[in-house]
Amino acid sequence: SPVLLWHRRDLRLQDNAALHEAARYSSQVVPVFIFDRQILERADTAPARVAFLLEALERLQEGYRQLGLTLLWQIGDPLVELQHLAATLGAKAVFWNEDVEPFARQRDSRVRAGLAEAGIQCFSGQDMLLHGPGEVLTQAGDPYSVFTPFWRRWRSLPKRDPYPIPKALQPVPSLQAQPLPSLADLGFVCTQAIPAAGEAAAQALLEDFCDGLRILDYERSRNFPAEEGTSRLSPHLRWGTVGIRQVWQATVAVEAEIRSEEAEASLQTWRQELCWREFYKHVLAHWPHVETSSYRKAFDGLEWENRQDRFQAWCEGQTGYPIVDAAMRQLNETGWMHNRCRMIVASFLTKDLLIDWRWGERYFMQKLVDGDLAANNGGWQWSAGVGTDPKPLRIFNPATQAARYDPEGEYIRRYVPELAGLDTPALLLVGDDQKGSWALQERRACGYPDPIVNHKVQQQEFKRRYQAVQGSC
Ligand code: FAD
Repeated sequence: SPVLLWHRRDLRLQDNAALHEAARYSSQVVPVFIFDRQILERADTAPARVAFLLEALERLQEGYRQLGLTLLWQIGDPLVELQHLAATLGAKAVFWNEDVEPFARQRDSRVRAGLAEAGIQCFSGQDMLLHGPGEVLTQAGDPYSVFTPFWRRWRSLPKRDPYPIPKALQPVPSLQAQPLPSLADLGFVCTQAIPAAGEAAAQALLEDFCDGLRILDYERSRNFPAEEGTSRLSPHLRWGTVGIRQVWQATVAVEAEIRSEEAEASLQTWRQELCWREFYKHVLAHWPHVETSSYRKAFDGLEWENRQDRFQAWCEGQTGYPIVDAAMRQLNETGWMHNRCRMIVASFLTKDLLIDWRWGERYFMQKLVDGDLAANNGGWQWSAGVGTDPKPLRIFNPATQAARYDPEGEYIRRYVPELAGLDTPALLLVGDDQKGSWALQERRACGYPDPIVNHKVQQQEFKRRYQAVQGSC
């Protein structure tokens, strides 16, 4: 009898653990995706992510069609839909790849219990990570709360090969593919210019970055937001349109091309980014309270100013700090932001505007095409100085950051076009003590706002508040 394969964040055929396992169990695999109403209705579900999801599903549907199979879809509650489909098709088992998010874990245990009552077996396993939670532990058997020892252990563990696409799958003759719903059908409008979705798009990026050896310049290029220095794989890793074992394998293939220490460092640094992704998933799995609280709970007592007008200016890219505004506009226009800039704007929101990191976290989730609870939450807690990383206070000076990482003002000009005609120094100077200075006057003449806060003053104030909490820890 057929088995169901419940796709969630694994929208691919290659290197898919659940697909592999399902095909070992039965030659008749029926793939299904369920638009979960609870997720669609959440306030932080981004139109950009739903648009990316729909395109990825289109591509997946085509991929299955080429194998002679039909990808089904439903809108509703996963348990109800799976029960109904299993009963209609006479399926006795459901397969899926696990997730670490608290919502997903609760939903999955409810689905597992409900299906078991109906006599349907469930098989689920780890697929999203190279090493799942529980596989990377200290000598004492505890999870790591600090990245560097986690990384050392993680990289020493053997990595498995990608799963092959199963051969000789049999179609269920009665099934017909339904056209997927449109974005509007799901109640969303996306105005952002998001990247192409699907497995072929992910493979093209992976090839360009690894086979094209851009990875070997990563150590340098990753810091400059005006350059295409990073892989841009994040939405694909977020939706599983590429398998993580395949990504790892691509890095192994590059090893033969290493001719210098810089190239070796670049490869290791990029692998370290993959490891950060896994680290934050483990943190969320082991300490689910981070979803709503600081990892170090005492920091929930940090006193924020939370001024709505300043938050609005930050969201819109109207803070008067060109590097911050360029970054926020990149997010608003494309659904993606360079990592260097994510750190700059997160530091600015929390330490210059004294706004609760959770406000920024939510806004990012509403806009990011790669928005992922674990990575986003980890990034925000790191930036606010309330997370797992014990090193205390990192305060980014936007002017220094811009001068170092956008020295020609190329990135600023791209996303803050009203300033594009100005000379570079007028873009890079940030006017703490410069009200009325020539740089501000030139920007004003372009219709660009004055800085909404003074960095020096605000960072002192943040330090005072931070140390007040630290003292009480
Ligand atoms: P590359 O530099 O090519 O890195 C390769 C992959 O490694 C990425 O695709 C990503 O999956 C992973 N990765 C890289 N850096 C990190 C990191 N610091 N933490 C976790 N994983 C990482 N990343 C997300 O995928 N989703 C988010 O919602 C997200 N929110 C963030 C919020 C803040 C405040 C900060 C500081 C970082 C956030 N990141 C997030 C991490 C990082 O900025 C992005 O993963 C990266 O910019 C994606 O671009 P890329 O694919 O070109 O990355």
